[in-house]
Amino acid sequence: MELNYYMPSKILMGKEIIKKSARNISSFGKKAFIITGKHSSKKNGSLQDIIEVLKEENIQYCIFDDIEENPSLETVEKAALIGREENIDFIIGVGGGSPIDACKAIGVMIKNRNLTKDTLITNEKLQSISIIAVPTTAGTGTEATQYSILTDHKDKTKKNLGQNIFPDLSLLDPTYTMNMNLKVTRNTAIDALSHIIEGYLNNNASIISDGLAEKALNLWGECIESLISGEFSYEDRENLMVASTMGGVIIAQTGTSLPHGMGYPLTYFKNIPHGLANGCLYIQYLRSFKNREKVEKIYKLLGLSSYEEFENILRKLTSVEIDVTKSELQEYAMAMSSNKAKLQNHPETVGFEELYAIYEGSLINKM
Ligand code: NAP
Ligand code: ZN
Repeated sequence: MELNYYMPSKILMGKEIIKKSARNISSFGKKAFIITGKHSSKKNGSLQDIIEVLKEENIQYCIFDDIEENPSLETVEKAALIGREENIDFIIGVGGGSPIDACKAIGVMIKNRNLTKDTLITNEKLQSISIIAVPTTAGTGTEATQYSILTDHKDKTKKNLGQNIFPDLSLLDPTYTMNMNLKVTRNTAIDALSHIIEGYLNNNASIISDGLAEKALNLWGECIESLISGEFSYEDRENLMVASTMGGVIIAQTGTSLPHGMGYPLTYFKNIPHGLANGCLYIQYLRSFKNREKVEKIYKLLGLSSYEEFENILRKLTSVEIDVTKSELQEYAMAMSSNKAKLQNHPETVGFEELYAIYEGSLINKM
């Protein structure tokens, strides 16, 4: 057996984990740069908890609270220029995947002071200053991955930074997700599910990633009723967060595959949130998968009694109307058919025809 496993982030989870981790946080240095989105971290208490700990520990800080969804290279550069001026020691990314991904790229730009937004994405091996991640959505798993997904407006697409920037420390408190609205909850939960499944149906899957995926599917399955009804207990929120982090650990090993590559243009051109952009392709993606053995296992691990039931749930959680033409879908399928990084993770050979069929069956002639 060959194995290749690497996930260096320290992950701590629990109620009031930020307060409990004051010592740990203060070991990162004397000045912190908090990177967050515009509103949510002020509402869910995460930002306040971080500020209180920093004050108690006499750590200076500055805040950049202007990270948009699907963060752009421009925003990353703007924040990095402030971070360079302020001579900060470490970054705390708080929010959904967008601020945490942004802080990985900002950390690289602060560490490598010559980089600009135009030279940030490079083949060179680069490092970042230290990063603490405080996720407040349960979806991306970025707290346990090396990826940083950025929007490049010049090339009109989303790109991975291409560096291995794992957070040094990730602090998870499901309390911050308790009041998340149903739309964001579903979209992010579907993102987590898509990481678990794309890692499971993946050329790089191993006994370790499969073990994680099988347990994560059990956990995610326990939340299906809540995701349908919209009523969540603390335990549901906790299960979704753990499943999401496990999804991150999985894709840190395997990478994602077709739905992720195919979802990016739906996000860029049609403004569809990341999780939903993948999720709306899932029924067709799974139907197109020829090796049925592992696909069949998925619904059982989710605790469902039939594959049809699984499709019905996906239909309920990922329904979306997208105003898109056949020729646009052909362009997206063409671009995806040359996306070697994603295609090589998919264990079956697919080309333009198969990719277009997934898009069309999902978005035009819905089946
Ligand atoms: P997000 O873009 O970070 O946030 C989506 C929305 O949710 C924002 O309006 C945000 O508000 C709000 N929000 C965040 N936490 C909330 C809370 N606790 N309660 C209520 N609202 C909350 O969403 P995301 O799905 O977590 O992240 C998506 C990004 O991550 C995409 O760019 C995607 O490509 C990337 N991604 C990265 C990886 C990876 O491994 N690095 C994996 C998958 C996806 P504010 O803006 O006000 O904060
Ligand atoms: Zn994703």
